[in-house]
Amino acid sequence: MVGRAHTVAVVGLEPVAVTVEAHVAGGLPGLHVIGSAGSAAREATDRVKTALAAIGVTLPSRKALVSLAPAETPKAGARFDLAMAVALLCEQGEITAESIAETAFVGELALDASVRGVPGVLPSAAALSAWGIRRLVVADANAAEAALVTDLGVLPVTSLDELVGVLRGERSPRPVPQAAGVARRRLPDLSDVRGQAEARRALELAAAGGHHLLLVGPPGCGKSMLAARLPSILPPLDRPAALEVAAVRSVAGLISDGEPLDHAPPFVAPHHSMSAAALLGGGSGVARPGALSLAHRGVLFLDELFEWGRALLESLREPVEEGVVRVARARATVRYPSRVQLVCAANPCPCGGGDSCACTDDAIWGYRSRLSGPLADRLDLAPHVDPLTADDLLAQQAGEPSAAVATRVAA
Ligand SMILES: [Zn+2]
Repeated sequence: MVGRAHTVAVVGLEPVAVTVEAHVAGGLPGLHVIGSAGSAAREATDRVKTALAAIGVTLPSRKALVSLAPAETPKAGARFDLAMAVALLCEQGEITAESIAETAFVGELALDASVRGVPGVLPSAAALSAWGIRRLVVADANAAEAALVTDLGVLPVTSLDELVGVLRGERSPRPVPQAAGVARRRLPDLSDVRGQAEARRALELAAAGGHHLLLVGPPGCGKSMLAARLPSILPPLDRPAALEVAAVRSVAGLISDGEPLDHAPPFVAPHHSMSAAALLGGGSGVARPGALSLAHRGVLFLDELFEWGRALLESLREPVEEGVVRVARARATVRYPSRVQLVCAANPCPCGGGDSCACTDDAIWGYRSRLSGPLADRLDLAPHVDPLTADDLLAQQAGEPSAAVATRVAA
């Protein structure tokens, strides 16, 4: 008899249906995994075998074969553990094939048979529902995330023991824990910004027209503060867009337990010392999304623009234009979305500018030439941000709040 369980691999943001088959046959005793290259499979073998032993299921002393198909799909991480254990349990007659029909399993097994959360559950859940799977079994930590896909039943389990109990009908399934809340994340507000009429106007124009923006001004004049407030005047994300943003966070392993769906556009501010892999996506095995894709449908803020390496800025150009970044790795080339609004900030000259500036024209020219031409072409607006004096701070009222500006932007 062959035990079969459904699961799903995620390559980039692309889910791929994976079938796990388990068969125990003659041959030297041991558990062998095929269709999953490298050390990940060996480690999975040990975890699955130990977890099964922990719930009192010992595999017969014959050759147990577990196959993950399609074999050519890269299978990174420990997300297949649970499906492998379920296929073996089914093969051994511990659970029936009917009890796991139209059900998929995504989770890592600990040695004591508890089930751990894994990255990428949200895009997995969305695909499973489209493939006609009716129920997804995940760790408690991933349950709220999976439940963001509303037409899929979600069964949270803390352990393999609990799962077997539910599948045998000996235990009742627990409900999905509710997300912590649905309130919109509180964003930094433009009312905190005093003065800066020109820069505020440029920010509003950028929000309304989707323009990329370069803020030029001396250190401490509030460029970062202004940039961080752009999301507060952008229209909130609709549900499909918010799910896209959440899917990138899910694959990056950044969705915390019970986090509600966030409709606010993201704001990501990478540092100029960041590596190309961290900015664009990368890592060993299957590439993970970088800062660029985490800012998808939101704002990517590049502070101290002239400190960024020319090659790094150059590498941003095409993904920002095309809205998609391709990251090639040995095992797969993955695509991540990268529709961002750029806000860059720079000092006007090498010394930072201001009244005491004694920089020569040559020095200033050399400094500004560090910005690569093609990326500079993409920056549509470049208002000057003036330094504020103590008098300004005392005299000026709080700025117009974001809500009022957002109303004009949306109009
Ligand atoms: Zn200067």
